[in-house]
Amino acid sequence: MDVSLSAVRFAPVSVPRVMAYATERMQKRLASMPFAPTHAVVALFVGRPDIGKRGGDYSKNQAVLGQDCERLRGEFPAYRFAESGNAWPLPAVQAARLAGLGVVGVNGLLFVPGLGSALTIGAVLTDMPLSDGVLLTEKGGYCPRCGECVKRCPAGALTYQNGARGFERAKCLAHRRQKEDWPLERPGYYGCDICQDVCPMNS
Ligand code: SF4
Ligand code: SF4
Repeated sequence: MDVSLSAVRFAPVSVPRVMAYATERMQKRLASMPFAPTHAVVALFVGRPDIGKRGGDYSKNQAVLGQDCERLRGEFPAYRFAESGNAWPLPAVQAARLAGLGVVGVNGLLFVPGLGSALTIGAVLTDMPLSDGVLLTEKGGYCPRCGECVKRCPAGALTYQNGARGFERAKCLAHRRQKEDWPLERPGYYGCDICQDVCPMNS
C-alpha cells in the first residue's frame, strides 16, 4: 500500500525507530494521541521554518497535511491518519533522515539532495502498515563539512571536531527566541538562522 501527500517530498518510517531519538516531552505527546501510530509519512516543504511570524509556515503545512489526511481516510477507511506540523511528537530531523529523505549536516539540519536545508518538516501519522524508506548516505556531499556554520554561529552553539558534530541547544539564539528569552529578531526570520545563511549548500 502507498500513500501520497501534497508535499515536495515524502517517505514513510516506522515510529518505534524514530522514537529512539525522542525526548520525554515527545514521548508524552505520542502517548496522548487518540490512536497509536505505527508509521509516520515524513513530509518536506520548501521554505525555512519560522519566516515571518511564529508558527506561520508550520500552520500552513499542517493545514495542507490535514487535507491529505481527509483524502487518505476516504481512500483507506480501515486506518487512521493524523497530521502533524510544529508540535509533533517525533524528532523531525531524525525522522526525515530515517525515512531516507536526507542527511544531517554539521549545523544539525536536514540536507536534501537538490533542495538544500531551507525546508520545513511535517508528517502524517498512521496505523497503516508501510515500508520504511532507504537511508541516504553522505556520499552525495550534501554537507561538505566546510565548517562555515560553526565559525559564523554568533552564539558558539555549534562544534565540529574529529568528525563529530555538536549542538548546544541552550545556546542557540533561534531556540532561545522560541523560549522567549532572547528578545531580538532578524528581519524576516523568527530567530537567527545564520547557520542557514552562510551554508554554501543553500546558495
Ligand atoms: S540558529 Fe544561529 S545561534 Fe543557532 S546554531 Fe544557527 S547560527 Fe548558531
Ligand atoms: S556551512 Fe558547511 S559545514 Fe555547515 S552545514 Fe553547510 S556545508 Fe555543512
